[in-house]
Amino acid sequence: MSRYECRTAQKGFAAGKAFVILPDRKEAYRQGNPAEENARLEAAAAEMNRTLMAGEKQADPAGAAVIDAEILILEDEEFLGAARKAIREEGLSAPEAVKQAAEKLCEKLMASGQDYIRQRCEDVRGLAAGLTALITGEAEMPAEPCILAGSELSPGQITMIGQEKILGILTETGSPTSHVSVLAGNYGIPYLYGLENLTEKVRTQDYLILDPEGEGVLVNPPEEKRREAEARQAEIREAREKQQKQAAGKKTRTKIDANISRAEEADGLPEKGADGIGLFRSELLFLNGTEAPAEEEQFAVYRHAAEAMAGRETVIRTMDIGSDKHAAWLEIPEEINPALGLRGVRVSLANRELFRTQLRALLRAAAYGNVKIMIPMIAAEWELDEVLKEIQVAAEELEKRGEKYRIPETGVMIETPAAVMIAPRLAEKARFFSIGTNDLTQYTLAVDREARGMEQYSNPMHEAVLRMIALTTEAAHAKQIPVAVCGELAGNPEGAEQLIRIGVDELSVSPAKLAAVRERAAEIEERIEREARKDRDEGIRSPAEGELVPMEEIPDPVFSGGVMGECVGVIPADGKIYAPVSGTVTTVAATKHAVSLRRNNGEEILVHAGLDTVRMNGVGFRVHVREGESVKQGQLILEMETDLVRERGFNPMIIVVRIKSL
Ligand code: PEP
Ligand code: MG
Repeated sequence: MSRYECRTAQKGFAAGKAFVILPDRKEAYRQGNPAEENARLEAAAAEMNRTLMAGEKQADPAGAAVIDAEILILEDEEFLGAARKAIREEGLSAPEAVKQAAEKLCEKLMASGQDYIRQRCEDVRGLAAGLTALITGEAEMPAEPCILAGSELSPGQITMIGQEKILGILTETGSPTSHVSVLAGNYGIPYLYGLENLTEKVRTQDYLILDPEGEGVLVNPPEEKRREAEARQAEIREAREKQQKQAAGKKTRTKIDANISRAEEADGLPEKGADGIGLFRSELLFLNGTEAPAEEEQFAVYRHAAEAMAGRETVIRTMDIGSDKHAAWLEIPEEINPALGLRGVRVSLANRELFRTQLRALLRAAAYGNVKIMIPMIAAEWELDEVLKEIQVAAEELEKRGEKYRIPETGVMIETPAAVMIAPRLAEKARFFSIGTNDLTQYTLAVDREARGMEQYSNPMHEAVLRMIALTTEAAHAKQIPVAVCGELAGNPEGAEQLIRIGVDELSVSPAKLAAVRERAAEIEERIEREARKDRDEGIRSPAEGELVPMEEIPDPVFSGGVMGECVGVIPADGKIYAPVSGTVTTVAATKHAVSLRRNNGEEILVHAGLDTVRMNGVGFRVHVREGESVKQGQLILEMETDLVRERGFNPMIIVVRIKSL
């Protein structure tokens, strides 16, 4: 047995056989266009047919009967015909189409009460595995659920193999914020990285245990450890299913949505407790082929997701190609810094025909469900204007063709600091915002999300990122549009708390995290409600020792006239100023003479130290709190040198204002 320490991209626990993708095998996971995929399927089916016929001739009567049954399955229209149809109409790769056809046929067989018919499922699955091996060239597609390992893996490989076949992921390069990691998180798959010279240490069929919070990576452990690990894996699965059932029924004010990458992931999502789909990463459709998926193919995929959600919101992001998400067929000039290059909406606007094809498919799918369009990587208002124009062009084209369509609401992903800063203007044109904290963290903190060894710099809870989120939320709510968060921060327990406190309306997380996030959101909302009740009972306390002055006697018309709201003055005995209420610090004046707090019940309270003291430019003031910080009633927030204030000719009266809501 060997043991290795690795880094954790996604927590969890997994045990099973390794399936190692060697660099020169990557080609096998590339998906061709439907004609190529169909050719791969037909060639493999013909090869299998020949092999079976030859076997039947040599077998004894019992064996021949078994083989004959296999030939019948292979010739069954419900199997091979269904696979051909899935390639043609849904744009699946040949292995995926075989898998789907086999599963559908098995579902039908399982519905029959007859034992012997049910046993045929085994035959169907066996045949599908054989056919898949022929299509991909043996052992390029794992036949059983495995731990996928490789020096480096791409998002396309993960989707091609399919989440149900992947128990865990192990790579040499990687990072917790990479797209492979995001996908692993989406599927609830543990992911470890950082195993140097991986292909020399792990081979296909080795037994692996991935235990990020325990022993790290074990290669070929003794039998007893394997049994223990498998029992633990089964327990974790059961506990997750139980939690899912319990949480699905819990009501929360915050909408809890799911992030998906393939249409089939939408199946059964409402039952798993998703209020909607907050992010469908459509680009995964574009990454594996030798050309872009056709309008029909895309339409079928988007429609599938929309119909599976049965009227619930289905937010489909237009292709976010570029940076680490390569589409081999799309020419993007060599870039030194691809994360800052042609990606997201920039690719769409640079390839108008490609973009219009996607928009037409989206508009058509919108006629079948509650589809919304979301645009990634917006950094300027003109980009959104161009997108909205393209949507109109796509609608006109469909109109001319006499096609059934609907123009869905269009929203913007907020994932660049530029988008945050112009959020008030974007909010006039977009119907919703969705904050992509993965990229917003990357671009705000200037830290490459794909790079290894940058973990300590990549912190989505950094004050700068949280303030960006708060600014975006304010801008959206000022224009009455909702804000979702669809980056990984939404699925992190502390992150979810911060986001709910900031006031976002939706959290969109991986399907595997739906239950945990729903439970957490319910708990946080209840706590906030309790705190708000306490606030109401708590009242407003004087911010300093001293004599109270009624509003109308304050010697400043701005305050005495109630311009900002109801207020009271205090002639302070000393310069120590305490929070009059518990809440979150929303602003600290640059000149340090004023702090405003938001109570849990939403009320804004301003503490203003001295009259006209803005003119002191911060001299004589010390602030003890930061924006975004939570404070308790009675906590020291500010100090003012009252003697200095008087010396400079100002009045040190402290004013507490209950800000009027507009
Ligand atoms: C994000 O950037 O937070 C996001 C959700 O998009 P992606 O991770 O696909 O770039
Ligand atoms: Mg992003």
